[in-house]
Amino acid sequence: MKAIFLKAEIFLATLLAFALAAPALADHMTGLPPSARHQELPIELKQVAPDLYFYYNDSSSNSAFLVTGEGVLVVDSGQHPADARELLAHIRKVTDKPIRYVINTHFHGDHVFGNTVFHSQGATIIAHRDTVTMMRTHYTQEIARRADYYKRFGRDPVELRMDLPDLALDGNLSITLGGRTINLIHLGAGQNPGDMLVHFPHARTVFVGGPFARRNWSNTSFTPSVDNWIAMLKKIAAMDVDRFLPGHGDIGNQQDVLDEARLLGDFQAAMKTGMAQGMGREALVKNLRFPQYQDLRNYDRLHNFINGLHHLYSTGKPLTGLP
Ligand SMILES: [Zn+2]
Repeated sequence: MKAIFLKAEIFLATLLAFALAAPALADHMTGLPPSARHQELPIELKQVAPDLYFYYNDSSSNSAFLVTGEGVLVVDSGQHPADARELLAHIRKVTDKPIRYVINTHFHGDHVFGNTVFHSQGATIIAHRDTVTMMRTHYTQEIARRADYYKRFGRDPVELRMDLPDLALDGNLSITLGGRTINLIHLGAGQNPGDMLVHFPHARTVFVGGPFARRNWSNTSFTPSVDNWIAMLKKIAAMDVDRFLPGHGDIGNQQDVLDEARLLGDFQAAMKTGMAQGMGREALVKNLRFPQYQDLRNYDRLHNFINGLHHLYSTGKPLTGLP
């Protein structure tokens, strides 16, 4: 009885999220269809090592999976169960081994809303405990933020469920699967509380998830400290690996990671200078332009990101943070 009530409650929350989403999105969007802002590429599966695959989903969010004799480890589950089923179909073209683990690198819906599909495969889902808290706290908002995507791709929001990880970590964890070691690394909050890196030492590859999106202006509404985020990106860039798999965008190299650190530094410096000169939120939105970054994906959402950092610097807390 309680479970049924909870389901009904989540369903109502979903409906409410969509009712609220329309005016919020109108304010956020430029009015241009996404294709006019960024030419989206078809999904591509890239083999980056004999047993490691990068699932490059340019229209939504990226995943990766490691194939071993004892089963499969998946990184990030997609934006909707339908996206997770597509990812699973790609995995099944490579292997029929069971899905053993799924790592949620951060709490954003585009990286966790496919969890139900992998749970029904028997997978154990793992995330940092702050990711679990953020998933619980901001579930409705995370659905609302994706209304445009669900509409464009015909994804039914009624199918969404709050499906939390089975294991919540306080720090790092090493997993051994089929003779491979996979290191889950928490370097504090970068883009989000709970950011988790997934390091595949044998493949000289790290999946960065939230803190790194290649040639993309990352959302700054969740970070409790841009300085920590920049320091984290510098640590990641210094890792002894050959490739950095981002949450969005194609496979990156060390310079791509440092480029994101530089963007954040430039953005933070301009925001702090403007606020020190007495500029309020509207004046910052009106005046800050960053022409050197205007070709980056999501540049058209700059006013949202200014809003996020303005909130952080004027209150000391992220716009969307831990409760
Ligand atoms: Zn994302």
